[in-house]
Amino acid sequence: MIIGNYKIASLISGYFKLDGGIVFGIIPKALWSRTNTADSDNRVQLCNRILFLDNGKRKIIIDTGTGDKLSKKLKEIYAINNSEYNLFGELAKINVKPEEITDVFLTHLHFDHAGGATYYNSNKEICASFPEAVYYIQERHYKWAIEPTERDKASFFINDFEPLKKRGQLKFIDGNYKFDEFIELIVLNGHTRDMTAVKISDGNITLFHSADLIPMEAHISLPAISAIDAFPLMTLYEKKLFLSNAVLENWILFLCHDPETECLKVNFDRERFFTKEKLYIR
Ligand SMILES: [Zn+2]
Repeated sequence: MIIGNYKIASLISGYFKLDGGIVFGIIPKALWSRTNTADSDNRVQLCNRILFLDNGKRKIIIDTGTGDKLSKKLKEIYAINNSEYNLFGELAKINVKPEEITDVFLTHLHFDHAGGATYYNSNKEICASFPEAVYYIQERHYKWAIEPTERDKASFFINDFEPLKKRGQLKFIDGNYKFDEFIELIVLNGHTRDMTAVKISDGNITLFHSADLIPMEAHISLPAISAIDAFPLMTLYEKKLFLSNAVLENWILFLCHDPETECLKVNFDRERFFTKEKLYIR
């Protein structure tokens, strides 16, 4: 896919599982299990999809997946599977070295998005996965993540992001941010405080990475809001706003956690949004 002067690829940094009740919130299992099968521990399969953008000067990735730093116990709890697909391996397949990445947009600092931002080297030291990159994060979200609430502290691991601050690799942004003429970072406040969505548009094609606002196809349904969300009614408001824009302007929605569907377009009828077309970035 080409938007403006950017060539775009979709990569997979791995798979993991989460409790289905957490993923689909108030939606009863009898409904969500029709499209998402639960395992014997009630977990459903999720994917970590990473967007890669290259305009010849900048090589950008959006989010980094879970990475490999989690303890053995947590890897079991979340069924982390980075064996077949992982971010370094996927970049190697398209002939990109980690040190060539110039910019990393972190939508937020939950471990399934920021875990791969750093890694342990053979001496068990924390290193930046992309040593030459500037990592972008909303400053207010960073402050939230270093002092999380009791309700969401299990989602944040300080080694994913604090070492980047110490190395001077974090660039704090404050609100909506125009990276260049084609890329805009947009603040959302439902899933967590000051998450960043990324809109890539040349006026003809618009690709919208909503981060965890609409992470899977099932979340197009308005009441399907993850139980993780800190401000679910704000999520509802943001879903209505951005899904309406997606219908009106024919946006392509990128689904960062859907194990089956990479992207889709939406339509609206009889007070509900639904999938108009599924797409894959080629
Ligand atoms: Zn999240």
